[in-house]
Amino acid sequence: MKAIIVGGGIAGLTHALSLHQVGIACRVYEAVPTLAPLGYGINLQPNAVRELFALGLGERLSAAGILTQELAFYNKHGQLIWTEPRGRAAGYRWPQISISRGELHKVLLNAIRERLGADAVQTGHRLSGLEQRGETVIARFNDPSGKPVGQAEGDILVGADGIHSTVRQQFYKGEKAVFDGYLHYRGIVEAGPYLTGASMAVVGHRHHRAIIYPVMRRPNGKVMINWLAYTKIPPGAPPLEAWDTAADKEACVDQYNGWSYPWLDVQGLFAATPAEHVLQLPNVDRDPIPRWSFGRVTLIGDAAHPMQPVGAQAGSQAIVDGRVLAASLVAVRDLAEALTRYQDQRIAAMNDMIIRNRNLGLESILQTAEERAPEGFKHIHDVLSQEELEHTAASFKKAAGFDVETVNSRHSFVDMPVS
Ligand SMILES: Cc1cc2nc3c(=O)[nH]c(=O)nc-3n(C[C@H](O)[C@H](O)[C@H](O)COP(=O)(O)OP(=O)(O)OC[C@H]3O[C@@H](n4cnc5c(N)ncnc54)[C@H](O)[C@@H]3O)c2cc1C
Repeated sequence: MKAIIVGGGIAGLTHALSLHQVGIACRVYEAVPTLAPLGYGINLQPNAVRELFALGLGERLSAAGILTQELAFYNKHGQLIWTEPRGRAAGYRWPQISISRGELHKVLLNAIRERLGADAVQTGHRLSGLEQRGETVIARFNDPSGKPVGQAEGDILVGADGIHSTVRQQFYKGEKAVFDGYLHYRGIVEAGPYLTGASMAVVGHRHHRAIIYPVMRRPNGKVMINWLAYTKIPPGAPPLEAWDTAADKEACVDQYNGWSYPWLDVQGLFAATPAEHVLQLPNVDRDPIPRWSFGRVTLIGDAAHPMQPVGAQAGSQAIVDGRVLAASLVAVRDLAEALTRYQDQRIAAMNDMIIRNRNLGLESILQTAEERAPEGFKHIHDVLSQEELEHTAASFKKAAGFDVETVNSRHSFVDMPVS
């Protein structure tokens, strides 16, 4: 049994490690010529972190990131709407980890090289097409210049090739990403710790908000703070779809006038970010789809369910996909049936998450507070009852599969030793 994994991002690498754990051979084919640590902050919720602990990577990741203690929501005036403990502080047996995507990628890649060997990831291989012939899947690849570079044969093919997935396009021809007319600016900057020192803060409302969290401690007592500024696309800015497009930092900073609070100077943080560390992305996702598995081919991670960046879900759900798929391949002999079983376990919840995130997920309380009290409030309970606040937070976590009871009471999806 041999699996072809297309895409060496978070989903592809975690799935490769999981297949190795269960004794299934695989190779990862990645489009970019060199794997460099890319991206800024990413959050790993306890449901994903427990899977990374089961892969023997928990200690390394905990040391590389910050163990998040708190999630706090504020209105644009800086008034507290809701705060809740996170990770171990909330009673989980595993932490929530805020980490640089580059560090996470490095830990996964190093583990692959140690366990699967140096050639387990083939870079410079962009999938150009695939074909299912009997019990074999044939994948064809191009090099970075677009020239054919060879093909691979496997028993299954896993599309882990992100939001612009070529594998997905084979089955959903002409499907377009959905762009909502808003832009994120993303930045990372060294600064002093704020609030608990390990707090994720979400400020503002649907049309204008900021998401801020530290991802790394520095030896000088400071932290690297990741931020995301979500705002209307400035006139003339093209809806670019890459992760590494340089941004006009000043255009971003100007839109956050007055966002300076006793607990954090948000605009000051943006202004202090070196311009070369500010990127811009359009806010895109894709509509839910009815199937991920087609015979011996399936999709995981953003290729299966790209979602808006709400509630810090994309990385965690990609990891869970890779684990559930590995477990299905152990549980069911017939490979096409195993891929369907994986799909059936995951697709309804993930399609629900795509829609919930379009409706702001647990961050919807920010929008409610803005609509009911645009000038601010004396007490939050004049605007939102404790029950509304608790219900919104609890129902999102339950739907996303990371409520404390669910995570603490189940075994790892792949409950086997790591070799
Ligand atoms: C460069 C980069 C930077 C990012 N930065 C951030 C960030 O700062 N914060 C954040 O929250 N999320 C970030 N993300 C997205 C985040 O990693 C994902 O939303 C989430 O982790 C799900 O991971 P994934 O593996 O499904 O997709 P991705 O992480 O997007 O990985 C997909 C991989 O597939 C490769 N690929 C694409 N097409 C092909 C093809 N045809 N053939 C072979 N390989 C292909 C891509 O090069 C990429 O390595 C970034 C993604 C990328 C690719």
